Amino acid sequence: MSAPARTASLLPLLDALCDFVAQVFWGAVGLELALAVVTFLALRLITAPYGRHARPGWGPALPARWGWTVMELPALLGFVALFAAGRHRSEPVPLLLGALWLVHYGQRSLVFPARLAASARPVPLLVIALGMAFNALNAPINAYWVAEAARYPAAGYRDPRLVLGVLLFLAGLAINWHADGVLLRLRRAGAYGVPHGGLFRWVSCPNYLGEMLEWWGWALAAWSPAGAAFALYTMANLIPRAAAHQRWYRERFPDYPPARRALLPRRG
Ligand code: NDP
Repeated sequence: MSAPARTASLLPLLDALCDFVAQVFWGAVGLELALAVVTFLALRLITAPYGRHARPGWGPALPARWGWTVMELPALLGFVALFAAGRHRSEPVPLLLGALWLVHYGQRSLVFPARLAASARPVPLLVIALGMAFNALNAPINAYWVAEAARYPAAGYRDPRLVLGVLLFLAGLAINWHADGVLLRLRRAGAYGVPHGGLFRWVSCPNYLGEMLEWWGWALAAWSPAGAAFALYTMANLIPRAAAHQRWYRERFPDYPPARRALLPRRG
């Protein structure tokens, strides 16, 4: 039996968009994997010039609060658009996965920027443009997979992959939000300092560790090739940055806790 024609979304434009993503899906996943390799190699040579690593020579910049919102909004809007066009958008598993995505990106694009210190360093337009382009690629393919391409059974919420994935996602979210909260409070209090509490006891960048856990959890829960490509890209982006943060902490604070590792706690 052929698949039912997909004319059920709110706007014909969304149907057309969904058809387009269906045609380019595997190419887009491949592109994202290639971008992960390029990003990892590039960031080992050049530290992304924003936040504490901001430096002259990277062109015009936007105030940090606006910069983060503009950069991250495509991850929210692109996901909602493709999700709304998906034939399975009203089923329980896609709704759960979509809700997790929206919780993360609602916070990242709207709440996190509002909490940044007024003195937060401007974000170069180049960084914003690259972030927007990646989000505009990544969010639609992930929404397409869960709301259109994947076939989750009605009782799919009992699948161990979904249960474990959701738990991993929620643990990562809690770690990420807690760590970002510690850092944002430090930053709003004035200059950079040595963060303490939670996983900072063992690692310098628990926010990045939490972010990686989140996306591996989401990929597992969704059993999604697009989700796995995103989780790999997140690692490619954040592992070199965590190494740069670690070097920065050690250079700037001579009494920085010697046992604290960049991303993963020391064993034993
Ligand atoms: P950082 O840890 O570099 O900074 C987070 C915030 O805390 C910034 O406002 C920063 O100020 C401030 N801050 C950091 N360290 C200190 C310190 N020691 N003392 C005082 N203030 C500090 O994170 P990013 O800005 O790189 O990322 C923000 C969020 O976005 C994170 O949750 C991260 O996981 C996520 N992210 C996800 C990516 C992905 O690929 N999925 C890619 C990049 C980020 P300032 O900006 O002025 O340095």
